[in-house]
Amino acid sequence: MQTAPMHVVHIATELAPIAKAGGLGDAVYGLCKQLAKSGCHVEVILPKYDCMDLSKVENLKVDVPHLATYEDGKHISNKIWTGNLENLNLILIEPDSPLKYFQRNTIYGEADDADRFTFFATTAIEYLHSRSKHPHILHLHDWPTALCAVFHKQVYEQLDFDIRGIILSIHNMEHQGRCGAEVVSRLGLNGLDLLDPDEMGDPIYPDAINLLKGGILYADRLTVVSPTYCEEIKHTEKGFGLQSDLLAEREKLFGILNGIDYEYWNPETDPALIAPFSTRKGAPIDSLRAGKKVNKKAVQERLHLTPSDKPLICTISRLAEQKGPELIEHAIEKSAQLGYQFVLLGTSSSPEIQARFEALKKKFDNSDNVSINLSYDESLAHLIYAGSDAIFIPSLFEPCGLTQLIGMRYGCVPIARRTGGLADTVIDYKNGITFDPFTTDAVTNALERAISCYHDHPNKWNSLIDAGISIDWSWSRSADDYMHHYDVLRRTPV
Ligand code: ADP
Repeated sequence: MQTAPMHVVHIATELAPIAKAGGLGDAVYGLCKQLAKSGCHVEVILPKYDCMDLSKVENLKVDVPHLATYEDGKHISNKIWTGNLENLNLILIEPDSPLKYFQRNTIYGEADDADRFTFFATTAIEYLHSRSKHPHILHLHDWPTALCAVFHKQVYEQLDFDIRGIILSIHNMEHQGRCGAEVVSRLGLNGLDLLDPDEMGDPIYPDAINLLKGGILYADRLTVVSPTYCEEIKHTEKGFGLQSDLLAEREKLFGILNGIDYEYWNPETDPALIAPFSTRKGAPIDSLRAGKKVNKKAVQERLHLTPSDKPLICTISRLAEQKGPELIEHAIEKSAQLGYQFVLLGTSSSPEIQARFEALKKKFDNSDNVSINLSYDESLAHLIYAGSDAIFIPSLFEPCGLTQLIGMRYGCVPIARRTGGLADTVIDYKNGITFDPFTTDAVTNALERAISCYHDHPNKWNSLIDAGISIDWSWSRSADDYMHHYDVLRRTPV
């Protein structure tokens, strides 16, 4: 007897390229596409943000004009849209509420984010239930959707909502969704009961509910985005207060390395590049370097750097404490002395960090060597990956990190701090340059080693590029690991 294809519903707040704020969007997109290619029936539920780029979504239509949900005892009507993005089935939730949760011209960063996303998460599960959809697996991502696991166990399991398991993927332990008990009470849960330290009570702020902790306790399986990070968060402060909860749940916690989408990140077909080049296995390194040279010149011209054969080093990143802004600043300051050009593409949601980089930008305004771009620009990012010789990633902690993987796919050598997913993917003098201490001295030393390798040992430098492009960073391997967990849950008797 043939078994039905695996039916997986992802509930997420980002999906590249239509709603992307960072790596989460890339990860959900790449994983879901690969799962669909492998024969899964994949649906992705997202908020219908006003800032979403729907130009690539086909067959967009209203599936349910009025889905009723409740907030604070008040009836809210939601319009549910469906559409297709490549091989993915999208479901978009548009609440018709005076609070206009998803009409803020932004994905995150609003004072009521906990209200916005818990409302979304519970509406998503209500939609599945009301349409009698019974996916085998619900796959949640990060704190904004973690409440689905609590809702399912406390409410929907009793309502004949037949699913085989819930997976919560945690992409960053720093963000946990701490909020008042009223946030969950207004959706019909007992907020005061859930404040209990053995329930969703926050371990650091006893008056707060911790949404991520709810997901950790109630989901059937947990994944984090790299094996090293999986160890770090159980045993060190990288668990941001939830170490003991993660340790207690270790039997259901797994580290699976993220991949990147090899169609979206493909220097052979990338429309943002001036000169496409192949990084396929066996592609001659000379033609790769020739292609990169043309793109490097384009980056230098576009960003007003002097045309030069000096190595071009980039950082493409959110400018948050996690990403080591002081070490990025140090690398910029050292560029003239150590003899490289530096391009930064980054944005910050922290006013202090933003101000620091604005000042740095002013300082280097007329520099021939440094270009500081404080904006979010997807197509410029693609060109910078293609034109740069190296990518600098000095993270304090890094759950997985995608920019080193994208960099390697584009022949750009990572210079990275050995933490989390960076430690799993960048090996010193094999496919990159690494350093350990989170200090300016360690950065200087790593940059000096990189520059010396580039100039004095070109064959070694080529071998770093070659090793980076030869490793398969696509989603195919990691998607199999997720499939394994789906299969186990599907076969587990309920
Ligand atoms: P994060 O912690 O932000 O998720 P990742 O390394 O996992 O970090 O993913 C970052 C993603 O966001 C990559 O696709 C990177 O190219 C992209 N990115 C970061 N900052 C910018 C920017 N300013 N402009 C364009 N893309 C950016």
